[in-house]
Amino acid sequence: MGGPRVGIPRGLGFFEYHVLWQGFFEGLGVEAVASPPTNRDILDRGVRAAVEEACLPVKVYFGHVMELAPRVDLLFVPRLVRMERRLYTCPKFLGLPEMVKSCAGRLPPLLCPVFDENRRGSKAAAAFAQVASRLGVGLARARRAWRQARARQARYRAVLAQGWPRDQALAAARGGALPQASLRPKRSPDGRLKVAVLGHSYLLYDPHLNLGLLARLERLGVEPITGDVLPEERVLQAADSLPKRIFWSFARRTMGGGLYLLERGGVDGIIHLVSFGCGSDALITDLLERFARRRGRLPFMLLTLDEHSGEAGLQTRLEAFVDMIRRRRAERAAGWAG
Ligand code: SF4
Repeated sequence: MGGPRVGIPRGLGFFEYHVLWQGFFEGLGVEAVASPPTNRDILDRGVRAAVEEACLPVKVYFGHVMELAPRVDLLFVPRLVRMERRLYTCPKFLGLPEMVKSCAGRLPPLLCPVFDENRRGSKAAAAFAQVASRLGVGLARARRAWRQARARQARYRAVLAQGWPRDQALAAARGGALPQASLRPKRSPDGRLKVAVLGHSYLLYDPHLNLGLLARLERLGVEPITGDVLPEERVLQAADSLPKRIFWSFARRTMGGGLYLLERGGVDGIIHLVSFGCGSDALITDLLERFARRRGRLPFMLLTLDEHSGEAGLQTRLEAFVDMIRRRRAERAAGWAG
């Protein structure tokens, strides 16, 4: 490929936009490499570099930056402002490039486009055209790469929303044939318990950070239902039914997902996965728990992660939660409970 090598840290917005970002660099003809999945070393380095008060996902992000730094010519650290109209990310996302520069030691130059999906989505395109220009790529090719990457990202989200696993959605987005509907894994073929796991994508889909939560549920015979597979429009409508608008994207999706499931049913319990020190989650956690109790009396569990979270404690809590759901189900079946 030649030319500079760009590093993309596997944290925070990566779990929302890696298809878009990697597709864009590919379209420019620039080599872009993602850091490896989080491991103990990456986590420890991030924790050492970050300020104590930072939330766990930010600390891990620093670890990914430090892992990539010696291997690349440029680091891609976008400033995510708005992922949709009139909704914001959080102050950590807004100040991410500055935090990285001040905490992560000696680094290669950073590429920090402002990713701001305003009304027409035009600002993000312009910011990425500037990235292309810094890499020596002309405007026409940058625009083409952006359009194609956007189409790929849209395809990825659409396939995910049909309930396909992430790896298959990724293959389809990269131009592979759409998987046949008949091959899609059947949901709960044997009447397994279903538990909704709600939270930010960078917590849900980083198995090292969440201590393998989704796989642990599977091993306990539970089908985890994540926000990806819920109908987005209905989720956002549910969030907007609250008297006060939530204006943080991740919190709105989590709250909307919870309210949608409480209204529609179809799950046996809800796990809300949060990071210690997250301001927006602190506001919605209590609200969601109250709705869960009031509307559906669904079992609800809050799981708060930080760098000290341990596997044994998590496993014990999950087993107790699943046992409680099974007991309730059995009581309902026997007509003992409403
Ligand atoms: S939304 Fe919360 S968890 Fe995510 S980066 Fe901001 S403070 Fe951290």
